[in-house]
Amino acid sequence: MKIAVIGTGYVGLVTGTCLAETGNDVTCVDINQQKVDMLREGQSPIYEPGLQTLLHRNIAEHRLHFTTNLAEAVSEATIIFLALPTPPGGDGAADLSYVLGASRDIALTISSYKVIVTKSTVPVGTADKVKAIFKQYTDVEVAVVSNPEFLREGVAIEDFMKPDRIVIGTTDETAKGLLNELYAPYVRQGNPIVFMDERSSELTKYAANSFLATKISFMNEVANLCEKVGADVDMIRLGIGADERIGKRFLFSGIGYGGSCFPKDVQALARSASENDYEFKILNAVMDVNALQKSVLVSKIKAFYGDDLTGKTFALWGLAFKPETDDIREAPALQVIDELLSSGAKVNVYDPEAMKNVEQLLGATITYAENQYDALNGADALLILTEWSVFRNPDFIKMSNLLGSKVIFDGRNLFDVAKMNDIGFYYNSMGRATVG
Ligand code: NAD
Repeated sequence: MKIAVIGTGYVGLVTGTCLAETGNDVTCVDINQQKVDMLREGQSPIYEPGLQTLLHRNIAEHRLHFTTNLAEAVSEATIIFLALPTPPGGDGAADLSYVLGASRDIALTISSYKVIVTKSTVPVGTADKVKAIFKQYTDVEVAVVSNPEFLREGVAIEDFMKPDRIVIGTTDETAKGLLNELYAPYVRQGNPIVFMDERSSELTKYAANSFLATKISFMNEVANLCEKVGADVDMIRLGIGADERIGKRFLFSGIGYGGSCFPKDVQALARSASENDYEFKILNAVMDVNALQKSVLVSKIKAFYGDDLTGKTFALWGLAFKPETDDIREAPALQVIDELLSSGAKVNVYDPEAMKNVEQLLGATITYAENQYDALNGADALLILTEWSVFRNPDFIKMSNLLGSKVIFDGRNLFDVAKMNDIGFYYNSMGRATVG
């Protein structure tokens, strides 16, 4: 099939590349010329495991193309995916200007039936708004479909190629048939394609992300309580996770959720509820808990050293909002850095993939280490902010020699508490006993 994907970010690039991988002819469009130039050379502008290989293969086979020319890309395509940003507007509601603007631009160029598929996360009622734009700017018949994306950065290729489910919101029978055919190779193992109306589909995405964010905030509160009552959150996680109604996954406590999706989607759903005269009380609590949780580690540091951190240097392992990505949007690490700097501390950082993005944002206000051990040199303590695998089994003897004192504040519970006690570290983690 001939496909156009508008917006070549984390979602659009993965979507376009994975659709080309099953033999479709895909043209990806972006307004960022530099990005398009890089992609034409086969260089991925983002770090996503496995993406580079698929990119090379599909470009070489002439199934995957990149352009800034929207009209050219959409004229040939039958299915047009919108993978555009929907950032929070001033009032917390999703900003639809990218999606609606691109819809108008597409409407002005098309001359034959198209299936317009919204992959961006958009509030309930957006499909109606997109339909209205097409009605306003063209007489050509289009089907407007909601098809929210559930991929996780870091495992995006795997998630796209073998999704747990595909949600498609449309009542247009032609569009249903085309999308069923397009997605068939991805659900061969029997995972469902769930067809529904547009509004239910739009709300499904927000409900999924908000539920996951709620799970995280819930476990973070359990961890905070554990520290007060002398319980161990890891034991509780195992104890409750064995109940199939709860499930084992997504029960790890930490320093709060971040990323480009959870914070904005929880906020947008709460906003969308209040616009419809409904107060979504749980979501307000989830946001409050998360805001506090991002400060928990620095509060612990201040309880240890005092409020004034002048003269102290902290080594930070991990900057990305989660492992296996270079994405730092809403990363808790940024708030930790900000709080440390404003309390007078110096900060040395290391992250396997996100250093470049952080350097663009923070410049010379912090120091960037060559590797994880380099970051420890002369630091008073180590803070662990992202659970990259490479941090899980480090050389503790080397660490003892490099650190000014053997102090670790672990926001991701990477190490065994008893082991840290045995090897003589002060070790303060989340929801578990502090030793040393
Ligand atoms: P992104 O910021 O990484 O990418 C958006 C791309 O769109 C950028 O490359 C930008 O240059 C381009 N763009 C902007 N205006 C354009 C225009 N008029 N024409 C062509 N290109 C244009 O965003 P993302 O993370 O891929 O997210 C896209 C959408 O998908 C959002 O609604 C997001 O909530 C949703 N989503 C994201 C993820 C994720 O993990 N990142 C997962 C599921 C859903």
